[in-house]
Amino acid sequence: MPEIADETIAGGRLTVDLDAIAANWRAMNSRTVASGSRAGATVKADAYGCGVTAVAKRLTQEGCGTFFVALPEEGRKVREVAPNAEIYVLNGLFPGAAPFFAEARLRPVLGSIAEIEEWALFCRARRVALEAAIHVDTGMNRLGLTAEDTAKVASDNTMLDAFKLSLVISHLVNGGAPEDPINGRQLEKFKALSGQFPDAQKSLSNSAGCMMGREFHFNVARPGIALYGGQVMDEGPNELEPVVKVEAKVIQVRTVHKGDTVGYGAARTAKRESRIAVISSGYADGFHRLGSGTDTRPGTHVWFNGHDLPVFGRISMDMQAIDVTDVPAGQLRRGDYVEIIGPHVPALVHARAAETIDYEYLTGLSKRYARHYASLKEPVA
Ligand SMILES: *Cc1c(COP(=O)(O)O)cnc(C)c1O
Repeated sequence: MPEIADETIAGGRLTVDLDAIAANWRAMNSRTVASGSRAGATVKADAYGCGVTAVAKRLTQEGCGTFFVALPEEGRKVREVAPNAEIYVLNGLFPGAAPFFAEARLRPVLGSIAEIEEWALFCRARRVALEAAIHVDTGMNRLGLTAEDTAKVASDNTMLDAFKLSLVISHLVNGGAPEDPINGRQLEKFKALSGQFPDAQKSLSNSAGCMMGREFHFNVARPGIALYGGQVMDEGPNELEPVVKVEAKVIQVRTVHKGDTVGYGAARTAKRESRIAVISSGYADGFHRLGSGTDTRPGTHVWFNGHDLPVFGRISMDMQAIDVTDVPAGQLRRGDYVEIIGPHVPALVHARAAETIDYEYLTGLSKRYARHYASLKEPVA
């Protein structure tokens, strides 16, 4: 095989700025440290698409000692680069998975009586009180013990004596909207439920919770989206550093005449003589089809050299067309890159057009693009 750079044969390139992730983590940590708490880091789903190994390694250097993942295998990857960290697995203990947890020194976040019993049984059989967290439900109704189950566990020493309860957590339903009264109700319920385990540390806040009052911070916070530069609060500016830049390669530039249609379903008609760039980015690269620009929906846009360029027609699996008529002829050519997510086009722009959230764009970042870890800061002249 001839030596050809990854970038030459990939449809695009993806740049992740680890310094920016570290800066965003420090921003979250200093908010929580101010209230006597500390920030862990949520690195589930391959660190929201940014690469769990690189991110956990960098945040460990930064002083982060507690990581939250969704799955045991994600925890094992963190363990490889963070030998001394506390690693909590949010999706809890899957049946029969306890030996894997013990081997990689992972702590399950036990979310039901059945999980607690299985962990207790495992610890008794091994004659070692391994650490675990308990999740108490305060309104999400997804995972976690009910109030009745919490009282039962708190008063039943046969379960609690078998393992070491290191943390009690719950999860905010609508932290992005601090005015929603559900936040206060969850806070009160969390105090009541977690208070039944006086010796354990407590954790309630995701990124949004870090932005709320100190009473939400408890012992350790679990920011995720903030670290990756996403939108934390539903409203208001995003003051975090951008972390991800995704650029797609221009495959070709072509002219379409007034009245011609572009793409599947003939969903978009040219209203003028137009120049169209076809780029190597489609829904298989995480670019949701709902962001398509059709005759009835404006759709999303990408960016090149100072221009916002609308998506023209339906996004297909491996490519999409963008309207480059307003870019001076000759400026954008075959092989050039357009920014599809980055400092000029936050994922939130696409998410709003596609009626979803930027989390989904980040976790769906293309596995087909050439990846780099590098700074996104423009060099200062
Ligand atoms: C994903 C998740 C987080 C992180 O949430 P962000 O909104 O990304 O900060 C924290 N806690 C739990 C239980 C989660 O599932």
